[in-house]
Amino acid sequence: MVAIVTGASRGIGRACALKLASDGYKVVINYSHNEAKAQEVLDTIKANGGDGMIYKADVSNQEEVNQMVRAVYKEYGSIDVLVNNAGVVRDQFLLMLTKKNLDECFDLNVKGYLYCAQACALKMFKNKKGVIINMSSVSGKYALPGQSVYGATKGAVNQLTAVLAKELAGYGIRVNAVAPGFIETEMLDAIPEEKKEEYLKVIPQHKLGTTEDIANLVSFLASDNSKYITGQVITIDGGLSL
Ligand code: NAP
Repeated sequence: MVAIVTGASRGIGRACALKLASDGYKVVINYSHNEAKAQEVLDTIKANGGDGMIYKADVSNQEEVNQMVRAVYKEYGSIDVLVNNAGVVRDQFLLMLTKKNLDECFDLNVKGYLYCAQACALKMFKNKKGVIINMSSVSGKYALPGQSVYGATKGAVNQLTAVLAKELAGYGIRVNAVAPGFIETEMLDAIPEEKKEEYLKVIPQHKLGTTEDIANLVSFLASDNSKYITGQVITIDGGLSL
C-alpha cells in the first residue's frame, strides 16, 4: 500500500507521513524546498522499520505533479492514498491584498489539490480503490478578518471534496477533508502571541491541537475502518467556536 503526502517535510504533513508509515504504507514524502527535513522524515520512518521515498515537487505546478505521480507509480505500481496537505496561509486585509499572495494561495491550496487529485485518481481507477484526504481548515467555515483569501481557498477545498466524492464514488475512491483548528506548527508562527492567547480562550479545551491529533484522524480516514465515510469535512479543533 502506497500513500503520497504533499508537504510532508514538516508540520501536519510530517506527522501524517510518520503515522501512515507506522500503519504499514510506503510513504512518499513530498516537499518543495526543504530536502534535509524531508530526508529526516524518511530516516525516521526507516529507523522504525518502514519504507518510502522523498520527492521534491511544487504541487502548485501541474507538470511537476504529473511527473511525481508517474515516478511514484513506476516505482511502486500503485497509489492507494493521497493526502493533499501542502498549503500556505497569506493573511492580509482586503485593502492590502496583493495579486502575488492571492495567486500563491489559490495556486497551491486549490489548484494544487485538484492537480494531485486528478493525477492520483487516474492511477487509483486501475485498482477501483483509493482514498483522497484534503487538508482544509476551520478558516473555511469561520469568517476570520484578514483571511478572505485563505478562508476562500479552504471553503473551496470543502466544496471540491464534496464534488469529487460524488464523481469518484463509482470508482471505489473515497474523498474526505479534515478541517483542523489551531495546531502547533510553524504555520502558527505568523499569528501574534496576543492573538494566540485570544484563541486559547475560545477553545473549550484551552489548548492547541498537536500534529499527531490530525495524523490519527487521517490514519482513520485512510483505513477501511472509515469505508462508509465519503464527501465529509471533519472538524478537529478542541471544540472551537468563533
Ligand atoms: P507548514 O508547517 O507551514 O508546512 C507546510 C508544508 O508544505 C511543508 O512541508 C512545505 O515544504 C510544504 N509546501 C509548501 N509549499 C509547497 C509547494 N508549493 N509544493 C509542495 N509542498 C509545499 O504547514 P502546516 O501548519 O503543517 O499545514 C499543513 C496544512 O494544514 C495546510 O494545508 C494548512 O492550510 C492546514 N492547516 C493548518 C493549521 C495549523 O494550525 N497549522 C490549521 C488548519 C489547517 P518545504 O518544507 O519544502 O517548504
